[in-house]
Amino acid sequence: MKYPVAKPLFHGNERKYLLDAFDSSWISSTGPYIDRTEEAFAHYCGTQYALTCSNGTTALHLALLGIGIEPGDEVIVPTFTFVSTANAVKYCGATPVFVDCRKDTWNIDESLIEDSITRKTKAIIIVHVYGHPCEMEPIWSVAKKHGIKIVEDAAEAHGAVLYTVQSKEQIANSREQRAEGEDQRPQSRVPGPMRYAHMVGSLGDVATFSLYGNKIITCGEGGLITTNDKAIYENMKQLRGQGLDPQKRYWFPRIGYNYRMTNIQAAITLAQLEDIDWHLEQRRRIATSYNNALSPCEHIEIPAELDNVRHAYWMYSILISSKCMLSRDDVMKKLFEKGIETRPFFYPMHQLPPYSDQQKNGNYPVADKISAVGINLPTNSALTANDVRIISEAIIEIVDA
Ligand SMILES: *Cc1c(COP(=O)(O)O)cnc(C)c1O
Repeated sequence: MKYPVAKPLFHGNERKYLLDAFDSSWISSTGPYIDRTEEAFAHYCGTQYALTCSNGTTALHLALLGIGIEPGDEVIVPTFTFVSTANAVKYCGATPVFVDCRKDTWNIDESLIEDSITRKTKAIIIVHVYGHPCEMEPIWSVAKKHGIKIVEDAAEAHGAVLYTVQSKEQIANSREQRAEGEDQRPQSRVPGPMRYAHMVGSLGDVATFSLYGNKIITCGEGGLITTNDKAIYENMKQLRGQGLDPQKRYWFPRIGYNYRMTNIQAAITLAQLEDIDWHLEQRRRIATSYNNALSPCEHIEIPAELDNVRHAYWMYSILISSKCMLSRDDVMKKLFEKGIETRPFFYPMHQLPPYSDQQKNGNYPVADKISAVGINLPTNSALTANDVRIISEAIIEIVDA
């Protein structure tokens, strides 16, 4: 493929740190790069704690176990997501309850969340789809009102930012009495009406990230978790390492997992993290070029970026309009013939066999629609302005034919 959707790009210290880890013989899951990566990522997200782990799926499993999800619990999950989000709920013996998504950002439709809450609801997982942060203000309020935890699946949104007029505590407490001493998370103040900047990863009780090869930063296979809650952090850390008692060697008071990252993977991650602003700039540059080229085309809907966010553009994605003579799959096929790789949008969870019983709980018209007409375009940091121009022209030629 001349233009792949995603590809890892190593243009900083990746090779140097990788060889340093290798030469040191600390190739397993202890070593200085693990600590350095955790420290650097917590700092980047503005959270108290960060943990490395083996991938974005185990990160989700640890996050859910960390906040105490148990068999019989219900967890609200957007139906429009990658399958890991729902599977991690199942790993805990809990039940995912699906919610439809918004027409513009394709994120969970926050106005539908409250109707899905039952006595069994313990948490909600929000997914910042393709890198666009969720609209948190109503989610903070509803979570606070019902005493449910928020897990961010930020696998696709490293470095994305949400801006708010009020602080997080003001928003969560606006409908009720302020609970004393709660929720003292750091938020950076910015001038102007959008006074508070919140990094993705600091928006809920715990957040998870993936470092798979096609993500914004990568180490091949890996995951990161962030939280401000010490108890959740310690819980997850113990579960990540077989459940080992931190004070007593070879004593396992509970059943844990081996979900650790290696020092080799952490070495690559640290170098990618040093360069994350560069990667985000490239993605924004590519998205802006696509927007300029594709917005006049009436057979395409370009992705939204709400005024109060910084989109991370993991994937630049478009919808093929019903006015187009070709189907989405035909458009993809014709692009493929020109050396342009694309991906179809995720199937919504409620359509997949393990979750099809969820159909009875409601319908999901927005997710059904976008999943049938959405395409992810090449969005890797290496694409030049000329590449984006060639790809955009090819798309317009195909959809306008
Ligand atoms: C990629 C992804 C994951 C899973 O990450 P892995 O590292 O591949 O396990 C989870 N959730 C979402 C939304 C993703 O896009």
